[in-house]
Amino acid sequence: MTCPCGSNIDYKNCCFLYHNGEKIAESASILMKSRYAAYVTANADYILKTTLPNKVHLYKKSDILKWAKSSKWLKLEVLYFDDETVEFKAHYFNPNMQLEIHHERSRFENINGKWYYSDAEFF
Ligand SMILES: [Zn+2]
Repeated sequence: MTCPCGSNIDYKNCCFLYHNGEKIAESASILMKSRYAAYVTANADYILKTTLPNKVHLYKKSDILKWAKSSKWLKLEVLYFDDETVEFKAHYFNPNMQLEIHHERSRFENINGKWYYSDAEFF
């Protein structure tokens, strides 16, 4: 399958490499895209693993899986990014097959050379 992140590359040669730990996301925007692809592939472990260690307790694996699996993910639209911020829209159908657009500006933090999701503003 084509990678859900929008790269037009095969998933196996794209975000899968981050998901299986072969590669470490080189930037905040790459991490964000790989996290979106993790939602599409219902990979809650990757979402938790790439969340800031001191904030990961705020998230529950079951909630992530529920949202990931009950949504039909359509596309990721990156509106803006810089070194530590990514603003994006994720388009998906909710369980009632209504179109939803999740609009978020995420902040990322680098600790010892690894990027982590920190927190976000929602619109
Ligand atoms: Zn990808």
